[in-house]
Amino acid sequence: MEKRVFNFSPGPAMLPLPALQEAQRDLLALPGLGMSILEISHRSAKFLEIIEAAEANLRKLLRIPDDYHVLFLQGGARLQFAMVAMNLLRGSGRSADYILTGTWAKTAMKEAQTQGNIHIAWDGASLNYTRMPRQDELHLDPQAVYLHITSNETIQGIQFHTEPDAGQVPLVCDASSDFLSRPVDIRKYGILYACAQKNAGPAGVTIVIIRKDLADRSPPDLPSMLSYKVLGEAKSLHNTPPCFCIYMVKLVTDWLLQTIGGLEKMEVINRQKAALLYEAIDRSNGFYQGHAAPESRSIMNVTFRLPTPELETAFLQEAKKRDLVELQGHRSVGGCRASIYNAMPVEGVQRLRDFMLEFYDTHSRYRPQNPAQPT
Ligand SMILES: *Cc1c(COP(=O)(O)O)cnc(C)c1O
Repeated sequence: MEKRVFNFSPGPAMLPLPALQEAQRDLLALPGLGMSILEISHRSAKFLEIIEAAEANLRKLLRIPDDYHVLFLQGGARLQFAMVAMNLLRGSGRSADYILTGTWAKTAMKEAQTQGNIHIAWDGASLNYTRMPRQDELHLDPQAVYLHITSNETIQGIQFHTEPDAGQVPLVCDASSDFLSRPVDIRKYGILYACAQKNAGPAGVTIVIIRKDLADRSPPDLPSMLSYKVLGEAKSLHNTPPCFCIYMVKLVTDWLLQTIGGLEKMEVINRQKAALLYEAIDRSNGFYQGHAAPESRSIMNVTFRLPTPELETAFLQEAKKRDLVELQGHRSVGGCRASIYNAMPVEGVQRLRDFMLEFYDTHSRYRPQNPAQPT
């Protein structure tokens, strides 16, 4: 096997090795079938078995109640930004509440604005999106069609540790970058959606968990591929679904159930991994500057800066030599970002932590002794 490195990419991201190995082993022919997953009909008994197993795994991991659909859709999380509004907001005569916590929440709002009126319930712009809001800071409209949140801001590295209380208003959540990283009470949500390529599988499929009564509200004049009602009734098989991606979601969720032992266990491991890196940041006397306020730190995306851009470049180059790759921050915000999704082994995070401490020891003389005051 080619050497594998520790890949801290924000997505598409690392996948669990056992899932990749099983896919590799069975790529030419699924056991007993003589054909590969890439070649079989989406209406075949074998594929139905695979998609049903993927759904059953998700239902088990997240304890998804029967009155919710679990859909496997295409178009990424970004299409959901629009679909949520097309299905629920357009023509409702009301507005939807959005909590703006970072780049993804803002993008979701902009797409929804093409379909109807938006009310901003909170905006973290003046805080440079360094933390999530407290409940008492929200300006919620009790008549809103839904309240949209982003549970984890992948680019800023901040995360809701408890979801806001939306009262009677359906809560809609873009959970793309923390899906399956911890248990979630699905009952609190009207819709929870996540593209697969962070934690659940490869790029190409988006998982949408939607309460059936909300799906039934889809306006009848929507194109069928954009209607939750049509897609839900067809059980994700209205058209040819991304078969290989769904197969990979099945293998990844098999791994979560069988090797990890469920989302409670996964969360414990994820918290341990995140603590290793945040401790390294906190013990560096300001050499590493975390972006997130401590109470909103993400356990999936750890964002930080070094004292100078030159040191950041050197840090990324040195890390790469140690097989720690894709640590650069998003092009819009710079700095460094370690994405430590489910499939990143503890060993990879320990290696990064050790490297951070070593780099700090070598370069801490660059630490500003008296940080310049803004003039
Ligand atoms: C990655 C990501 C997206 C974008 O997903 P696509 O599948 O590229 O559309 C949206 N929201 C969040 C929070 C993300 O992390």
